[in-house]
Amino acid sequence: MKLIDGKAAAAALRAEVKAKVAARLAAGQRAPCLAVVLVGDDPASHVYVRNKVKACAEAGIASIERRLQGTATEADVLAVVHALNADRRVDGILVQLPLPPQCDAARVIAAIAPDKDVDGLTPVSAGRLAHGAPGFIPCTPAGCLKLLDSFHGDLAGAEAVVIGRSVLVGRPMAALLLNRSATVTVAHSKTRDLPQVARRADVLVAAVGQPGLVRRDWVKPGATVIDVGINRVTTLDGSARLVGDVAFDEVAEVAGALTPVPGGVGPMTIACLLDNTLAAAA
Ligand code: NAD
Repeated sequence: MKLIDGKAAAAALRAEVKAKVAARLAAGQRAPCLAVVLVGDDPASHVYVRNKVKACAEAGIASIERRLQGTATEADVLAVVHALNADRRVDGILVQLPLPPQCDAARVIAAIAPDKDVDGLTPVSAGRLAHGAPGFIPCTPAGCLKLLDSFHGDLAGAEAVVIGRSVLVGRPMAALLLNRSATVTVAHSKTRDLPQVARRADVLVAAVGQPGLVRRDWVKPGATVIDVGINRVTTLDGSARLVGDVAFDEVAEVAGALTPVPGGVGPMTIACLLDNTLAAAA
């Protein structure tokens, strides 16, 4: 079994982005700039934003933060997004989710100018992806595809099964695999006999949010398994631990290649955000 080292792949991508940013600067161009909009004081969101801003700095990408109080109205948030859309120094815009309940996240996301949509979550970006046209790809599935390119190889004709149909991961992942000519099945909470569906996969992507859902007998011997899940569980000794949607130890015995959690898909997500921000500046 090949362990898919997402940490190393992400470090390589980040180094590549950093080198390209340095080349831009050397050519007299300004640094790419990411604007992050953060509403309210959800502690996890603050950590994510801090990590993204730090990763930008390490790659030489400039960033600006627009923070709003948790009481901000949807109109307040939309006004910030519109101002960033119009700001020529800003290449990419990211609205950190979740938003407080008084703000309709779908409407706020849809207001981001498609050419600054580095999270790839606007309906325009989703439409471009569905059409197989160039556009921004959501960072997590973009990272999964890069791992598949490195560790699986040619996807044409492969049986691919994606478990999960979220706008953030499952749907764009399925579209990416289809654009690479895989035969794609999207499974979800209503799928009948999920183990049997999963077993036909040469490439199995689990993006569910259920610890250890994918068991050994769900996996075809030799399959490439990408575990997107990030689940915090409490172990018997009371400590907290992150696990994926795949029962790692069992599946490692049958899979041809497998991502660990942590250290698989997770690190690729931020690296792809930097990559998208660089592309937005080009
Ligand atoms: P989501 O809750 O929006 O979607 C989950 C999907 O799983 C839904 O489409 C649902 O139909 C399906 N589902 C739920 N229970 C199921 C079951 N028992 N069998 C089959 N399908 C089932 O979640 P999401 O945003 O797509 O995230 C999925 C997981 O990936 C979560 O654990 C999340 O934390 C993780 N995630 C990781 C990264 C990363 O950077 N690695 C990024 C985003 C999400």
